[in-house]
Amino acid sequence: MQENMFSKTNKKVISKVISIDGPSASGKSSITKSVAQTLNLNHIDSGALYRYLTFKVLEKGEHFHLGANLLLDIWKDNLKIEFRPSFSLFYHGVDQGQFIREHSLSAKTSQLSQNPAVRDSVNQVMRELVQNSSEFCILEGRDIGTVVFPDAAIKFYITASPEVRAKRRYTELKNLNKLGDLSEAQILEDVVARDKADATRPIAPLTCPKDAIMVDTSDLNFDQVLKMVIEKIKAKI
Ligand code: C5P
Repeated sequence: MQENMFSKTNKKVISKVISIDGPSASGKSSITKSVAQTLNLNHIDSGALYRYLTFKVLEKGEHFHLGANLLLDIWKDNLKIEFRPSFSLFYHGVDQGQFIREHSLSAKTSQLSQNPAVRDSVNQVMRELVQNSSEFCILEGRDIGTVVFPDAAIKFYITASPEVRAKRRYTELKNLNKLGDLSEAQILEDVVARDKADATRPIAPLTCPKDAIMVDTSDLNFDQVLKMVIEKIKAKI
């Protein structure tokens, strides 16, 4: 197992978790990935786990029963999870990144993630990943600092205005050649709808943890945000 700056014996018992929550396209994924690589931490992307589960449930068909055991079967079925250089899911050795990042899967994932059995199942996977890790883990999502790891050692909430986030998502999809005939206005509509669904759902709604460091990236560039987050982590841990 690789050594990192936090893995030396620490007298104080502190949580091994750093949480980064925030809405879609806020830039939290790129920031989390870079922080993990810079500080040599394990990266866990909860959105990727929700997307993967949704992808598999859709593959099994509409009438798939969302029971705990059947969901568990999905995780046990030839899936390999890697933390580095960034969080990746391999099914039968094939990286699932390109399938689970499809724009069309986003709205379905948002719907499915409202189901309590689905949330329990993803949370259990994340807790096991952290438990089995001797390294510090940086987790990104919507409810990491509020629900999954309320005792995280340090919490961030990364956000930006809906317009800035829609523009970023538009550019990202364009660069990936996945834009199809989507316009920026349609992406903005999707961003706003998904924010609403994530923030108003009864279970684990998207919200800024009260003890989190809030970072609004609307007027900041990537390097400024990265520097700020790394400084805060180093100061705290
Ligand atoms: O972060 P990402 O956009 O990949 O997440 C996809 C969807 O998964 C979100 O819109 C949200 O509905 C759901 N999600 C969640 N809780 C998390 C992470 C993601 O409900 N911790």
